[in-house]
Amino acid sequence: TQPVSTDAAAVKAADRAHVFHSWSAQGLIDPFVVAGAEGSYFWDHDGNRHLDFSSQLVNTNIGHQHPKVVAAIQEQAARLCTIAPGFAVDVRSEAARLIAGRTPGDLDRIFFTNGGAEAVENAVRMARLHTGRPKVLSAYRSYHGATAAAINLTGDPRRWPSDTASAGVVRFWGPFRYRSPFHAETEEQECERALRHLEDTIVFEGPGTIAAVILETVPGTAGIMVPPPGYLPGVRALCDRYGIVLILDEVMAGFGRTGRWFAADHFGVVPDLLTFAKGVNSGYVPLGGVAISAEIAATFEERPYPGGLTYSGHPLACASAVATINAMAEEGIVENAARVGEDVLGPGLRELAERHPSVGDVRGLGVFWAVELVRDRRTREPLVPYAATGEANAPMAAVTATIKAAGVWPFVNMNRVHVVPPCTITEAEAKAGLAALDEALTVADRYAA
Ligand code: PLP
Repeated sequence: TQPVSTDAAAVKAADRAHVFHSWSAQGLIDPFVVAGAEGSYFWDHDGNRHLDFSSQLVNTNIGHQHPKVVAAIQEQAARLCTIAPGFAVDVRSEAARLIAGRTPGDLDRIFFTNGGAEAVENAVRMARLHTGRPKVLSAYRSYHGATAAAINLTGDPRRWPSDTASAGVVRFWGPFRYRSPFHAETEEQECERALRHLEDTIVFEGPGTIAAVILETVPGTAGIMVPPPGYLPGVRALCDRYGIVLILDEVMAGFGRTGRWFAADHFGVVPDLLTFAKGVNSGYVPLGGVAISAEIAATFEERPYPGGLTYSGHPLACASAVATINAMAEEGIVENAARVGEDVLGPGLRELAERHPSVGDVRGLGVFWAVELVRDRRTREPLVPYAATGEANAPMAAVTATIKAAGVWPFVNMNRVHVVPPCTITEAEAKAGLAALDEALTVADRYAA
């Protein structure tokens, strides 16, 4: 049932008067007023539904209002709403046990945070203390969060206004076949050249100065570039050779998004630290964390870890994580993400690419796909320039508006539409979303050669 209420105007008015929105020019936004959500849909006060092809910010992996998770939060609220991080408490222990049981290798200790950026901050702090080295290497075309270290590690334009040259961050290029920074012709060349470039960077920066390499296992917001099979094992080997901590950021790619519990599972790579958030509890209550290897955990056996948060391992967040992970296991939600990717999204997007000249590339896995739009398939000129705003971004704004008008809410970044529905999406819903995208691509085609 979809509640219909008439106070949408009051909600909007109070929002515009008092809510300061992220990443926005406050005077230029017109937020959609949401009245409710369930499963793969959310709706406004007039009952107009949108199929959520964005999973909000790629976090509602089990869809909206999963009844088992809602019940777990309600039960936990009635039992114990909050308790300081220094106490041991059943839901926190169980959440850590369930997460550690799924993270790769020996990543068996969990430090809880309130979200992804804090997870990255703490992973970097652990790596620096563990190695006694100052620098961290991160990739261009990446996003790691909006707090101090995390935004400096980020390799997209959102970093530019907050960049502080003293942050100890050195950036390198990761592999990306479609827009190869190495001008490679094949996947093998791309992999080999990307690894050589990373090793050159390490050697010229001075291996003894580098605490960590941080990478999104599959870069998300920056374009869902699935790395060639040999890349991450190659990075692991370089980190081992030079005594560098490997941090895999699975805030977006983790917890089922790629059709496996963690994206690292596709590549057989075990990092030293793994950051997570979003899908761990689908964001029903803010939660993130760092999964820590035995070796790094040992650094803090006798020596205190100099970091903490009032809400680390918050009971409501942990109760929702326990219920989410159990529901994902019981209901085969990770397997569903893999199946929908293989049977519907992959073939459906490739079919759209054949028919629409504006589609330069489609790539992804599970329920984690990017459609890259171009003006010219031959030159690969993007539909809008890198970091375009205002008039320069008009073609993408038109594409976005068309998908929304068809009742589907996309995740759009630069010249790309990301197809990132919940892991619970049905085949019929996925096909309905692709039909809306098909319609929007005819708008993109008008700008394409
Ligand atoms: N790391 C990655 C890979 C992300 O995609 C994000 C958010 O999109 C973050 C970190 C930051 O997470 P949060 O917004 O929860 O701080």
